[in-house]
Amino acid sequence: MASSATLTPLSHHLLINGELVLGSGAPETVLNPATGETLAHVHEASAEQVEAAIVAAHEACSSWSRTTPQQRSVCLLAIADVIERNADSLARLEALNCGKPLHLARQDDLSAAVDVFRFFAGAVRCQSGQLSGEYIPGYTSMVRRDPIGVIASIAPWNYPLMMAAWKIAPALAAGNTLVFKPSEHTPLSILALAPMLNTVLPAGVLNIVCGGGEGVGSHLVGHAKVRMVSLTGDIVTGQKILQTAAKTLKRTHLELGGKAPVIVCNDADLQAVIEGVRSYGYYNAGQDCTAACRIYAQAGIHDRLVAELGDAVSSLRFARKRDEDNELGPLISARQRDRVASFVERALGQPHIERVTGAAVHSGPGFYYQPTLLAGCRQNDEIVQREVFGPVVTVTRFDQLEQAVDWANDSEYGLASSVWTQNLDKAMQVAARLQYGCTWINSHFMLASEMPHGGMKRSGYGKDLSSDSLQDYSVVRHIMARHGNALD
Ligand code: NAD
Repeated sequence: MASSATLTPLSHHLLINGELVLGSGAPETVLNPATGETLAHVHEASAEQVEAAIVAAHEACSSWSRTTPQQRSVCLLAIADVIERNADSLARLEALNCGKPLHLARQDDLSAAVDVFRFFAGAVRCQSGQLSGEYIPGYTSMVRRDPIGVIASIAPWNYPLMMAAWKIAPALAAGNTLVFKPSEHTPLSILALAPMLNTVLPAGVLNIVCGGGEGVGSHLVGHAKVRMVSLTGDIVTGQKILQTAAKTLKRTHLELGGKAPVIVCNDADLQAVIEGVRSYGYYNAGQDCTAACRIYAQAGIHDRLVAELGDAVSSLRFARKRDEDNELGPLISARQRDRVASFVERALGQPHIERVTGAAVHSGPGFYYQPTLLAGCRQNDEIVQREVFGPVVTVTRFDQLEQAVDWANDSEYGLASSVWTQNLDKAMQVAARLQYGCTWINSHFMLASEMPHGGMKRSGYGKDLSSDSLQDYSVVRHIMARHGNALD
């Protein structure tokens, strides 16, 4: 099922029931955050088009849900190949639309998207589960995992294509059909891919509609034929979606915000910490729900860490002409940049918080904010408690490790965390006590397609990646056959 279609950059066509159509709703302006310039006006799907997409997905479900894992696997592998073949052009679009450095989009986002489709193509063919057997005499029980039906998948703007892969691959692999809505800020890469996805998949199996959250998004969430909503986004968006989904009792899969604690013990390898936080606190301009943004540094290492990390962070390169020179990009919008700036302003209004580096809007074009390090922060400070989603890292001093673990857990968020120490025993004890979906030891941020990614507490529930995700996108069913006891 190889696709021969080629990529159409700046395609504005939605994909509805196997047709590439322009949206007939209001135009949405799409910007290049690195310059502030307009890239495109993409028309939203009208209410009729959203309805048509859901009906198409509903109708396609009866045949797609009965395909074999092998057949679905072939399609996923073909999608991975198509993305790989067009990786350079897709990376260029991703870089334009998010402002991120092109070399990083190519190396990280595109490779990850390809790998996720390949992983689920394999995973769906080797699932395992409970044993069939006679749990009541005269009856044989067996357990099936079946598709849920039509899934509405709603994505954020920080890694548009990678988030699309995380949502589309497991849902299709499990035999569901989808209506996918990218963020209104970043629709370009998935729209460019739509014609090629259309050559790989039967009509209606994957529909792509654009539009804002309150309009197109809530239409999808409220629709009776949609059986599950998968969101990666803000906590408030998750709460709204839950309220709307409750009316039709839909399943929900929520990947919400994060505020990752980074516990640095006195015996940590300081250079590794500096390199780790310099990379993983500021990657993607901190617009990452796992960003290493909330450091707890033990008293014996605290001062050296603040000084050396300050130097390292101030050396981060951005807004340079040559793409390869840049390590991070801008914020996604002027609004997001101003939101980050106001968090930092309020923090610096507190006498105990010290600016180590950054803390200003970049003076050139685009929505850049200087990589910022703040020290002297206290547990109850807003900047320690709330997700900034920007290039801002805080440092809080602690004496006893017990205290750091309590502070790390004293958060509404529960997505990612890390502990840095050369004592593995200590690391394992801390890891066991942290209330986060993931804890890295002497590292941060690394994801593997085989391993589950997802939160606890208000960071949401449901796992992306891994075979756990296949379980989230399917439903367990019990089949029981009465057959008597005797063979005669
Ligand atoms: P957002 O919540 O504003 O938007 C996410 C998506 O939800 C968009 O497509 C938007 O149009 C849609 N939406 C908004 N309101 C809606 C509604 N009422 N009904 C239906 N859909 C609606 O989030 P964002 O600003 O795009 O992304 C940033 C947030 O995402 C951050 O909080 C970040 O932590 C979180 N995030 C989480 C993960 C994770 O894996 N946990 C990954 C990436 C981003």
